[in-house]
Amino acid sequence: MFEIKNLSVNYGGIEAVRDISLSVPEGSIVTLIGANGAGKSTTLRTIAGLVKPRSGRIEFMGEDITGKDPAYIVGKGITLVPEGRRIFPDLTVLENLKIGAYLRSDSIEDDIEWVYSLFPRLKERSWQYGGTLSGGEQQMLAVGRALMSKPRLMMMDEPSLGLAPLVVRDIFSIIRKINEEGVTILLIEQNANMALQTADTGYVMETGRITLSGKGSDLITDEGVRKAYLGG
Ligand code: ATP
Repeated sequence: MFEIKNLSVNYGGIEAVRDISLSVPEGSIVTLIGANGAGKSTTLRTIAGLVKPRSGRIEFMGEDITGKDPAYIVGKGITLVPEGRRIFPDLTVLENLKIGAYLRSDSIEDDIEWVYSLFPRLKERSWQYGGTLSGGEQQMLAVGRALMSKPRLMMMDEPSLGLAPLVVRDIFSIIRKINEEGVTILLIEQNANMALQTADTGYVMETGRITLSGKGSDLITDEGVRKAYLGG
């Protein structure tokens, strides 16, 4: 469904991503794990059209989308839940959700109800300002807003960052549920344990390169992965 082939990305003289290839089959959850600065966010931002690659190819549903602009990519059904959530603090929950549907001209009422059914907390708080929500609620809103574009592929940049363990568990169970409802997921995480438990396939990234890949359940028992990312 989604394929990256030999992608390299530079910021000036810094090689942030070096010749990586990966594939995300339709209906799967794929995770990219790795330390700070490994190039994970750069990879997602490049897919989303926010950064232009130096070389390589990005294919979605058989189409070459390399270097296309962000609105075109959202229109194709790829959405990014950015690191740090970036919700609009001075808009209400409902207004934030409506912004997620900005490229659509069809009716969005059913999708608002769909998002509210996934996140009953957001329904209760639909008139609350985004900036006054808790960290976990803001993450739910960021995911809900991304779903309003009706994505086929949802990319998530560190959804568990800064959240309490119980809230992290909630977020990952919702990620599974969204996936069961037909959305393919590409997830980057420093919480490798939760990510590998959730994902069908994992890729390990180190200083711009993919150094290891395999089934999530196999990587979680891999000795090198355990030492580097799972605390031993
Ligand atoms: P983290 O988990 O800390 O977010 P990451 O794996 O997502 O890390 P990236 O944010 O992709 O890593 O960063 C990869 C490299 O590119 C780092 O060396 C970083 O300093 C550099 N980098 C990222 N964004 C920029 C930018 N806008 N300009 C210059 N260098 C950048």
